[in-house]
Amino acid sequence: MTIISFFKRASQAFHGCSSYTKLLILFTTFSSSGGIVAYSESQSEINNTPPAEFNRNERKKKRVVVLGTGWAGISFLKNLDVSSYDVQVVSPRNYFAFTPLLPSVTCGTVEARSIAEPVRNIIKKRNGEIQFWEAECVKIDAANNKVFCKPNFGSSVVGTEDFSLEYDYLVIAVGAQVNTFNTPGVMENCHFLKDLEDAQKLRRSVIDCFEKAALPNLTEEERRINLHFVVVGGGPTGVEFAAELHDFLQEDLVNIYPMVKDLVKITVIQSGDHILNMFDERISSFAEQKFQRDGIEVKTGCRVLSVSDKEITMKVKSKGEVCSIPHGLVVWSTGVNTRPVVRDFMEQIGQANRRALATNEWLRVKGCENVYALGDCATIDQRKVMEDIGAIFKAADKDNSGTLTVQEFRDIIDDILIRYPQVGLYLRNKHLIDVADLLKDPEGNDRKEVDIEGLKQALSHVDSLTKSLPATAQVAAQQGTYLSRCFNRMEECKDNPEGPRRFRGSGRHHFRPFEYKHFGQFAPLGGEQAAAELPGDWVSMGHSTQWLWYSVYASKQVSWRTRVLVVSDWTRRFIFGRDSSRI
Ligand code: FAD
Ligand code: MG
Repeated sequence: MTIISFFKRASQAFHGCSSYTKLLILFTTFSSSGGIVAYSESQSEINNTPPAEFNRNERKKKRVVVLGTGWAGISFLKNLDVSSYDVQVVSPRNYFAFTPLLPSVTCGTVEARSIAEPVRNIIKKRNGEIQFWEAECVKIDAANNKVFCKPNFGSSVVGTEDFSLEYDYLVIAVGAQVNTFNTPGVMENCHFLKDLEDAQKLRRSVIDCFEKAALPNLTEEERRINLHFVVVGGGPTGVEFAAELHDFLQEDLVNIYPMVKDLVKITVIQSGDHILNMFDERISSFAEQKFQRDGIEVKTGCRVLSVSDKEITMKVKSKGEVCSIPHGLVVWSTGVNTRPVVRDFMEQIGQANRRALATNEWLRVKGCENVYALGDCATIDQRKVMEDIGAIFKAADKDNSGTLTVQEFRDIIDDILIRYPQVGLYLRNKHLIDVADLLKDPEGNDRKEVDIEGLKQALSHVDSLTKSLPATAQVAAQQGTYLSRCFNRMEECKDNPEGPRRFRGSGRHHFRPFEYKHFGQFAPLGGEQAAAELPGDWVSMGHSTQWLWYSVYASKQVSWRTRVLVVSDWTRRFIFGRDSSRI
């Protein structure tokens, strides 16, 4: 046997093994040479039995259709008990993309394939019980429990007609699209950073700008224009891209393009007064100072009016002046907008005036019995305490005395805290340890009992603390996991509801409402420095935070395969620098 065929066979055999066997092989191989390796699959065992034949008549399982394979969709699928449902997934991308590392792809710090996990790999781990269709959902017909889909291939391919799927439950997790705010020229002349294809295109365009600037016969001014990179939007994505680009220039391109290195300029345009304004003030000023030191120009208080292939025109809000600056490349990174399929669905169900698809606290779309929405395409409409205050009072006043004693209030507070989390937030904000403190009169004196007006007054400020959740991967992933757990325990919780009492109706809710846990937020700022906002008002900045960033993002990868790829990309970059080929 030749060496090549030996490796071929060994590789095939290795891929066919279960995870435990892989672990054993790797451990044995490395430990014999003195190395140590930790290797485990997040799903303990891959079952290689062929997928069960899909026969809906035989099975009386409920049909679940999931739209989207992003953070929300995949975390739902990873945790769903597929033995109880017929699951079909529709998405125009047959992979999951780890979006927080997209800015790293634009400069080749990480390769595109290292942050993509094929959907079919994930399905394989679920014993083939999930059907995947690479198609885009173009219409949701909630009245008939159907979705209409368009395969993601050109019409020239045989057998790629549109098709429809029927569902008992629909899970909408299609994310959002870029928001151009209808600014003229943005669609045609700007780059975006929303998915992997955008990041790959941007990587090629950055290199193109350098190659163009290095051509003979250009004036210095023309070279300068080609090397002017403009980022519109000073949020985390725009700032991270600017920082990545700056690192790429300083660490790699200055050596490769020494003739043009002094002509490069990066400008960040932000409509607000500061960049990273959703972060703590300390982080936003740290970022601004760092960018100033790095020579990245930050133009705050500027609104972009139009973008042409040569110039970007903006209005300086403070002076009311309009000015245009020439550019080589513009990246547009300013918030998100609803996708057309979701917009159309919202019109059907009477939500046309809303910004995103409104759900209740259990992620069920308002006005639909069997449709759920999560992630960037949805927003939770938190019920206000004041809307239910009469019902709350009635439920609490067990003896029907027309007043609430402290004890009566205590008896019901746990349900209130679960159903209306803004009450708990209010207690924490006001540093109130005892819930009875809520019932104190305006002068701060204890009250033994309150009437309905007293209760209204006690809770009058809590609703102002209701906030909509940010459009982040963290929220989307937690919602996916939460919803899958509800699906997994649908039958069980019908008989033994675990949620809070229904204030407006009788009995209890089947489940506890979705509760978001914030684990902090990072902003990589380049030069091996990052800033992080951690729970409990903690702020951390600098080189050590960058190492924290590396470890968190390595650990958050959806599979061991991508984890190994990402870490090896980082290592490759440390040793050899980034690759500047235009591939
Ligand atoms: P997505 O992840 O966008 O997934 C949507 C899915 O729906 C995709 O699979 C798409 O192909 C599919 N789809 C689209 N249209 C249709 C259709 N018509 N029919 C069927 N399927 C469809 N968040 C963080 O928490 N931390 C970060 O560091 C962070 N960094 C980011 C960096 C960048 C560059 C970007 C763009 C985002 C970042 N985010 C971050 C935000 C995060 O990526 C999103 O909040 C998250 O992806 C939302 O998850 P989702 O499942 O709702 O949507
Ligand atoms: Mg009473």
